[in-house]
Amino acid sequence: MNEAKTLTCIVCPIGCTIDIKKENNGFMINGNKCKRGEKYAIEELTAPKRIVTTTVKVNNSVHPVVSVKTSEPVPKEKIFDIMEVISNTEVTAPVKIGDIIVKDILDTGVDIVATRNAKEI
Ligand code: SF4
Repeated sequence: MNEAKTLTCIVCPIGCTIDIKKENNGFMINGNKCKRGEKYAIEELTAPKRIVTTTVKVNNSVHPVVSVKTSEPVPKEKIFDIMEVISNTEVTAPVKIGDIIVKDILDTGVDIVATRNAKEI
C-alpha cells in the first residue's frame, strides 16, 4: 500500500486537491473542504475503487452491443476479472436502460446494468 498520495477529490465538482499520508495511528489529511473528501481519500489510499464501463454483446438487435456499467464502484484489483466475465456475456434484445445484465458480479454485491436501450429486430 502507498503510504502517501496527492489526489483530486471527485466526490463533488469543486475538486479539492487532497494530500493524504498514513501515520501510525491514522491518517494525516489536508486540502479537503468536507468530510466526504476525507472518506474518499482514505478509500483511495487503502482500497481504491472504480466504476467500470464497457459493452456487452446483444443478440436479436439492430445493435451489435449495448453499453453497460457497474452499479457501484468496484475494487480496482477485481476489474480485470470483471471485464473477463462481461466479455463472455451475451444478452438478447430487447434491453432497456437499467436492466441488470449480470447480478452480483463475482460476489462483489455490484450489478452490471445497461446504460442504453437495444431494441429487438
Ligand atoms: S473534499 Fe468535499 S468539497 Fe472538496 S471536492 Fe471533495 S466532496 Fe467536494
